[in-house]
Amino acid sequence: MSDPRDTHRDTPVDELPAPTVEPSPVSPGARPRVRVLHLYDRYLNIYADRGNMQVLRARGAWRGIDVEVQGLEPGERFEPGEHDLIYVGGGQDRDQQMIAERMSEDLGPAIKAAVEEGTALLAVCGGYQLLGSHYLDTTGVHQPGVGLFDLSTEAGEGRLIGNVAIEAELPAIGARAGRTATIAGFENHAGRTSLGTTARPLGKVLHGNGNDGASGFEGCRLHHAIGTYLHGPLLPRNPELADWLLAAALAHAHGIDAAELVDQADSVPPAIAALEARALQSSVSRAKAERG
Ligand code: GLN
Repeated sequence: MSDPRDTHRDTPVDELPAPTVEPSPVSPGARPRVRVLHLYDRYLNIYADRGNMQVLRARGAWRGIDVEVQGLEPGERFEPGEHDLIYVGGGQDRDQQMIAERMSEDLGPAIKAAVEEGTALLAVCGGYQLLGSHYLDTTGVHQPGVGLFDLSTEAGEGRLIGNVAIEAELPAIGARAGRTATIAGFENHAGRTSLGTTARPLGKVLHGNGNDGASGFEGCRLHHAIGTYLHGPLLPRNPELADWLLAAALAHAHGIDAAELVDQADSVPPAIAALEARALQSSVSRAKAERG
């Protein structure tokens, strides 16, 4: 049997159970719409992680897609199917301590059900840790996790800091082909994340530490959900990943064929596309120079 952690095996179209809320086709003359839920946005937003939301809004607007972002406060809940994409940012240990219990108790079942029915998800660093079974933090506090991803995290000696580049597998969404993408970002974490036997990594580390500085794996993915240690913010310098998330969210909102709406030719202003390419290239070069 092949190891699910082998990121290089063929990535088939993910078979998702039927959505809870039927996707609605884009009606003639109407603009496609993507609803994003930003969990605990006032607590988990380290390293300008909010910038990820701005990138989704802009990349949507260039294609005539409305991206609506809604925050969620501790104590509030949501129903699976109400949103097309869920976003969880990074945080310091003490920020995570403030919301970990609320997140696992109030939102755990809804997050898992949402991902199972095809909602897209992006979780960065602290948010990524809290989607595993738990995070034993630098102060010895056991932060409960949601258990979406089969992984656990414990703080280790010293922090893993620096630029990082990985080779990520972005699965096919409907007829939109899967692709292998070089992704880069900045990591700063005390936590070492171990993937369980059923977890599939987002990718393999090219330069840097990734999940634990030893396994060679970075991040985790399940259906259309991605967890990663890469800050930056992540999406401005990784347009391919941003478009993959947008495609997954569109598929959830408007049916699987809508995923291809992100691939319309000439939809991104060329000057911006050139800047993004330079940002990615310079991140990869820095990661390579720093980490070999
Ligand atoms: N507090 C976590 C750690 O140190 C995550 C940090 C982060 O989000 N940058 O491992």
